Amino acid sequence: MMSSMKFAVIGAGYAGLAAAVELAAAGRQVEVFEASRTLGGRARAAQIDGFEVDNGQHILIGAYTETLRLMRAVGADPNALLKRTPLRFEFPGEFLMSAPSFAIPVPAPLHTAFALLLAQGLDWREKRAAIRLMLGLRAARFRIEPDITVTKWLDSNKTPSRQRRLLWEPLCIAALNTPADRASAQILGNVLRDSLGGKRAASDLLLPQVNLSALFPDPAAKFVAEHGGAVHSGHRVNSLRREDDAWQIDDAGPFAQVVLAVAPYHLAALVPELVPSVAHFDWEPIVTSYLRYPATVRLPQPMLGVDAGLAQWLFDRGALCGQHGLIAAVISARGRHLDLPMAELERGIHAEIARIVPGLPQPLAVQTITEKRATFACVPNLQRPQAHTGLPGLWLAGDYVAGDYPATLEAAVRSGVAAARAALAA
Ligand SMILES: Cc1cc2nc3c(=O)[nH]c(=O)nc-3n(C[C@H](O)[C@H](O)[C@H](O)COP(=O)(O)OP(=O)(O)OC[C@H]3O[C@@H](n4cnc5c(N)ncnc54)[C@H](O)[C@@H]3O)c2cc1C
Repeated sequence: MMSSMKFAVIGAGYAGLAAAVELAAAGRQVEVFEASRTLGGRARAAQIDGFEVDNGQHILIGAYTETLRLMRAVGADPNALLKRTPLRFEFPGEFLMSAPSFAIPVPAPLHTAFALLLAQGLDWREKRAAIRLMLGLRAARFRIEPDITVTKWLDSNKTPSRQRRLLWEPLCIAALNTPADRASAQILGNVLRDSLGGKRAASDLLLPQVNLSALFPDPAAKFVAEHGGAVHSGHRVNSLRREDDAWQIDDAGPFAQVVLAVAPYHLAALVPELVPSVAHFDWEPIVTSYLRYPATVRLPQPMLGVDAGLAQWLFDRGALCGQHGLIAAVISARGRHLDLPMAELERGIHAEIARIVPGLPQPLAVQTITEKRATFACVPNLQRPQAHTGLPGLWLAGDYVAGDYPATLEAAVRSGVAAARAALAA
């Protein structure tokens, strides 16, 4: 009887939809409930000023193997939807590290050593120190025990300050959305292991050429529907309760197994007894400003870093997805930018772009999206809840669930897949 019962997923972010695809692919009938009308959760399409953008500019990397696998499974071709470029870490006029483009491909992990050796903006002493740090990490199998902050880890490796400012600290904020003085060195080590420490393609940057809902969530929902399931968008679940050895979701059910794929701060409304497992979490914001210029305006590269600026990264949406003249500026984690009035922040970002693009005209329009709880603060030794809730047939999925990665699309997808597999095996 139980085996013929439907499965349910609450939340259609990347975690929930990954779980739903995995369940549907295994032949289960699955219903997905999503509060918003737009699928994708924190990685979803948004409309501004007549443009279709995202609620925050995202990047993926080649190491996002599960995200890429599931994209292929639902017919969303990563080669068509993502712009793959070899790693390029650039702060114009200050620093440039890019994967070497030799005629003969350099095998892993030498490609990272070569990239560091060829980097512009570090002297030999700094390059040697950076390579020593990577090789030391590799020799320790990317284990940093006990876990400490990235700053303490860099201190213990006597990392020169310019190298911190131009390489490790921006890398840490980009990967963990947590400043180095608070971020977990072990989680950064995990990301380095799978990207710079892995095969060369693993460190490639994958920049979306479509909005984030079209990248995976919409094709995933179609896949679920084609496999006999349903995705109910615009349905905020108000009640999740256990009745007769099965789950009821509002007036739908019975469901044999439920994957709860909401963000941690949504748990209280649905299963208050799970709140203690995330009560110690702290949050980091991400601010994305979209500046619209005449269509002829472009950046020298699709993605650029800003050294010591308000903005940290600039993206040319013209080069990425044909939205010519639209530049996205991303500011990750907490910082002085949060204290500025919005107009001042936007003026400051415009001035930073003007330093890179000579003769830049005033923007035609500017709009800023602030996600106050973009990700959990990825601090050392953070206790993250397991997928198994302890309640029968109820599994957690989401970027915050126990795993190797910081709060990212890949963490969300991996946890969705793991929760679905656990539900299938139960
Ligand atoms: C601005 C920004 C920039 C980012 N940049 C990057 C990046 O460059 N690279 C990267 O890998 N990651 C990035 N991230 C992180 C990434 O977006 C998240 O890790 C990921 O989207 C989390 O997915 P999730 O499915 O775990 O949670 P969510 O996306 O939060 O999904 C939870 C879903 O549950 C729904 N929900 C909640 N309560 C209910 C209810 N009662 N009933 C029904 N539905 C409900 C919500 O509406 C939501 O859709 C960024 C995040 C932000 C905000």
